[in-house]
Amino acid sequence: MKNKLRSLYMLQLLDAELDELRESRGDLPDAVEGLAAHVLELQTRIEESAAALKIGATERSRKEKETLELIAKIDKYKTQQLQVQSNKEYDALTHEIDMAETVIRQYEEDIERFTSEAETIKAKKDAHDEQLVGLAAELAEKQEELKAVLAVTEEEENKLVSKREEALAHILPDDLEVYTRIRNARGKAIAPIRRGSCSGCYNIVPPQLILEIKKHNRVYHCEHCGRILISEDLAAETKLG
Ligand SMILES: [Zn+2]
Repeated sequence: MKNKLRSLYMLQLLDAELDELRESRGDLPDAVEGLAAHVLELQTRIEESAAALKIGATERSRKEKETLELIAKIDKYKTQQLQVQSNKEYDALTHEIDMAETVIRQYEEDIERFTSEAETIKAKKDAHDEQLVGLAAELAEKQEELKAVLAVTEEEENKLVSKREEALAHILPDDLEVYTRIRNARGKAIAPIRRGSCSGCYNIVPPQLILEIKKHNRVYHCEHCGRILISEDLAAETKLG
């Protein structure tokens, strides 16, 4: 029983160290992750804008080229009209000219639309390009900061994590579950008795109970906060190596 309590308390010491270590990184890991996602989103939108501009430009130049071809055709029809012999042939050419002019008007509307759409897309893309430059710089800066912090803390973290795994090997799943539940609710699961009080909630522990706890025969919980109580002696002799 004493070993079980000692193992649990060791686990708590390791968890406290790990918590402190991870806290020292502050919100840097989250900030880097958030910035990276934002950069990626902007890059995607810029690519989409560029693709839309390219399609628009291709369509516009195709229609401009076809318009010129139609104008040339109309000129040809008009020349032909001067040479035809019958009204029927003349009317047929007039019909061709009308059709070509209708297509030209449609193309002119399309070209105007492409132009104004392209302006809107271009303005949006420019704004995103500018935003991206700022964000990418910010991301690079935060990544550097994180790298520096990790360089200092990562080795220490790996050591603590492997010690934690060693400690876990001596802890039964049920005990770990109780430990985790109290830790999640209270921050710390185990409270050494200090000066006759629970060091978790500072309520007085009855002297009779303190004597029982010192025997290490079973697990006692603080009646006020629910933490597992251990003797001051056991806490003192359990140290991080
Ligand atoms: Zn308590």
